[in-house]
Amino acid sequence: MKIVRISVFAQTLPLRRPYELQGGRLRFEELDSTFIRLDTDEGVTGWGEGCPWGSTYLPAFARGIRAGIEELAPVLLGQDPRRTEVVNSAMDIALPGHPYVKSPVDIACWDILGKATGLPVCDLLGGRRPGAVAIQSSIPSDDPPEMLRTIERYHAMGYTIHSAKVGSDVASDIERIEYLAERMPPGCSLTIDANRAWTPDRAIRVMRATEAVDAYFEEPCDTYEESFQVRRATRQPIILDEIIHTYGDLLRAHRDRACEGIGLKPNRVGGLTKARRIRDFCVQTGLILNIEDTGGTALADTGAVHLAQSTPARYRRGTWFCHEMITVDPIIGGARNLGGMTRAPATPGLGAEPDPEFLADPMAVYQ
Ligand code: MG
Repeated sequence: MKIVRISVFAQTLPLRRPYELQGGRLRFEELDSTFIRLDTDEGVTGWGEGCPWGSTYLPAFARGIRAGIEELAPVLLGQDPRRTEVVNSAMDIALPGHPYVKSPVDIACWDILGKATGLPVCDLLGGRRPGAVAIQSSIPSDDPPEMLRTIERYHAMGYTIHSAKVGSDVASDIERIEYLAERMPPGCSLTIDANRAWTPDRAIRVMRATEAVDAYFEEPCDTYEESFQVRRATRQPIILDEIIHTYGDLLRAHRDRACEGIGLKPNRVGGLTKARRIRDFCVQTGLILNIEDTGGTALADTGAVHLAQSTPARYRRGTWFCHEMITVDPIIGGARNLGGMTRAPATPGLGAEPDPEFLADPMAVYQ
């Protein structure tokens, strides 16, 4: 089987509400998503989506995906998409780095492998594990009662994992954390996610003041070194997210005992092939995982859910659904919200693909 055509589609995805990060670091009203369609000489077609959050929040940008695919197309044409490791090696030689460019290609290859073998992607990633995958809420930073109301709204819909965004001044963050922790609905787990907003001194002051609170603290600072400084001065469980880009990043974090868990986003690390390696290391070494994508429609979310579904429940904390934050739903099938939980589709491949009526003409076709 050979890849004979690569089609690239660019689509704007409007957000239901503008998204802002604390401190005016980021504000955006829509996402810029890229859909990749791979056609093969045997008539099997695969889809992948790349959608960096806010287009530029991470060291990734939406238009870079399209430019990167142009670079990669000559080495991808003629490859057997079922040989996912071989395809990844070819991409890494042709274009070192740039994992966000390779992710939609890699995911489309897994979609084809699933369709060619008659298996859902989760079965190819180690096998469907029992149980549903919890979806975590994303609670924008606000005054504490408003944040609690949002948590209660999600809880009423079945959500049990809540990611509360913080990162303003020390006193306000301490007040937020204590207020929410005291009033969490029964059976719920709380993450305090700073999204890199704190300097080490602020993180240490907030975390020392809230030591008695049962919560995970996620991505306190901008860099690994700053987060590790916080780690050594505090006692709470830490989840690293934005600063884990490669297997090597994870090895360093494990060597240093810098965290108890990570946020694993296939689009950030280069797709399902590389995300699976990272997942397997975490399971082997006892790190918990939030497995979700950086953004996009139900197509992107579904790829992450397949990886989560094949992760032992003990290590699998939750996923997050970007597709519920946008005003369009152009995907047929896919992992959907089943009362705060989700399951990977049972159909071969991803079990999700764009409605052809939604996509405009491809902006580029390589063949
Ligand atoms: Mg996070």
